[in-house]
Amino acid sequence: PSRPLVADGVPIGLQRVSNIIAVSSCKGGVGKSTVAVNLAYSLAGMGAKVGIFDADIYGPSLPTMVNPEQRVLQMVAETKSILPTEYLGVKLVSFGFADQGSAIMRGPMVSGVINQLLTTTEWGDLDYLVVDFPPGTGDIQLTLCQIVPLTAAVIVTTPQKLAFIDVAKGVRMFSKLKVPCVAVVENMCYFDADGKRYYPFGKGSGHQVVQQFGISHLFELPIRPELSAAGDNGIPEVVQNPQGEAANAFSSLGVCV
Ligand code: ADP
Repeated sequence: PSRPLVADGVPIGLQRVSNIIAVSSCKGGVGKSTVAVNLAYSLAGMGAKVGIFDADIYGPSLPTMVNPEQRVLQMVAETKSILPTEYLGVKLVSFGFADQGSAIMRGPMVSGVINQLLTTTEWGDLDYLVVDFPPGTGDIQLTLCQIVPLTAAVIVTTPQKLAFIDVAKGVRMFSKLKVPCVAVVENMCYFDADGKRYYPFGKGSGHQVVQQFGISHLFELPIRPELSAAGDNGIPEVVQNPQGEAANAFSSLGVCV
């Protein structure tokens, strides 16, 4: 295409996006995608125009967690730009919606795919773009931070002491890049059974994070079968249960981003 992809250091397709929120974790499986998707649908439920960019090229979760009718991204022939697919008004882009891509790639190729998806997607007017970061704080994450002008970051973790070390890495990466970490979500904090509350991974590391890094918002999310079921059936929990406990937690998180 003859038109430029980037102007003033910002991809053309991202220029009408007001806020870009990174949802990040250091390990896989802590619930980062669950948080990204429910945060996005919670913001949409408050009336915002929202998109989700699933930047997890190795393990794209968006196509499982959200099930749009149109499951392949469309390309505009003249401009070669990518149009997001959509579910309930939220725009979605994931490598998992690209034409049967293989995930056997080396780091530089992954960066190339992320770069292409980000610089050629027409997001249009958005109040929020939620970026589901790949887990970790390596080169791919740094590349992503350099292409995308992030407004804020949300770090997702679990309550173990070990996870505390990971959060520190995440906070350090974003602060080096001058992106404020506005919240930490401590996922899978506890579960309730037989009228009792259990803390399978221990307690207290979240508060340590808040004190040590001066992050003002800490959200505790319990283990709930509904969250896992919703993740598997393609309709986010906050959409299925707009008055539920998870919806309340995510709307508080939405207010602080
Ligand atoms: P990540 O993006 O960090 O790899 P996911 O969001 O894909 O993690 O979550 C991993 C699995 O755990 C998914 O099957 C998801 O539905 C489930 N899960 C995440 N958070 C919760 C929770 N609070 N309660 C129950 N299941 C959860």
